[in-house]
This record gives sequence, C-alpha cells and structure tokens, in this order.
Amino acid sequence: MGSIGKKIVKADIKKIITQLNEALADEWLAYYQYWIGAKVVQGPMRAIAIQELNEHAQEELDHAVLLTERIIQLGGTPLLSPKEWFTKTNCGYAMPEKGFDVKSILKQNIKGEQCAIKVYQKIIDFTHNKDIITYNLASKILEDEVKHEEDLETILNDVEIFIKKISSKR
Ligand code: FE
Ligand code: FE
Ligand code: MG
Repeated sequence: MGSIGKKIVKADIKKIITQLNEALADEWLAYYQYWIGAKVVQGPMRAIAIQELNEHAQEELDHAVLLTERIIQLGGTPLLSPKEWFTKTNCGYAMPEKGFDVKSILKQNIKGEQCAIKVYQKIIDFTHNKDIITYNLASKILEDEVKHEEDLETILNDVEIFIKKISSKR
C-alpha cells in the first residue's frame, strides 16, 4: 500500500489486519455453511429456502473478496490455509443437524448472522474516524449481514405459519 495511504490510518494497522483476517475466517465458514445447507435442506418451502441460502452463500464469498483485498492493501497477509478458518473464527461453524430440517438450518444461519453483525459492529467501532476505508467496508458488509438476518427470519416465520396451517387442517 502507498505510504500516504498507510499514514492516514490512525488505528493500529496490525490490529485491523487481525480483525479482518478473523472476519475472513468467518466468511469462508459462513459461505460453506450456506452452500452445504442449500444442498441438504429438507422440509416445507424447501425451494424458497434453497434460493435464499444460495444467494447468501454468494454474498459471503463477496465479503471474503472485499476483506482479502483490504488486508493486502494494508500490507497484511490473508489467511493462507483453511486450517486457520477454525482457529481464527469469531462465529464458528454450525454443521447441519441430523434430518436437515429447514427450520433448524435457518435457525443455525440466523445465529451466524447475529454473530457476524456483532463482528462488523466491532470493526466499525475500532476504525471510526481512524481508518475510513476499513470503516466503509465494514459498514457495507454490516448492511448485508443485517439484511441476511432479516431475510432468514422472514422465511423462518413463513415456514412456521405454513406448518401451523397444515397441522390445523388435520
Ligand atoms: Fe458476510
Ligand atoms: Fe451474512
Ligand atoms: Mg437475502
């Protein structure tokens, strides 16, 4: 990164890079959790869930790209081994539970989004007025994660209404 570009960063660059790498680990795990969830999910409104899970998978991958580019720009090295995803992650990985029930998969991913929201809020707080580019980046990603949580909660709610309607007809 250019020397002036670096100079204008008023927070500890090493700490920013660490935070971005931890978020990068989260994004890869979130990507796979969505991707595999979309493949195995079963239950009512499966098609709608699959579409949303796949969309989110792609968006988590986009986040990974943005984080990686900023890490490199700051002079850091993005995580080079998938092994590090598990040692660096904030939010962890929730393996789809037995039965691959749509409600369970949605709930697992909602938890992940709620964790991601906290992670990006933390980066925003750390870089506010100190590193405008990382700040803007984290704000942009936070916007997506807030939307992700809402999208999944909306589908989960609809699935629950659907199940209630079916069981009341019996
Ligand atoms: Fe993300
Ligand atoms: Fe997300
Ligand atoms: Mg969505």
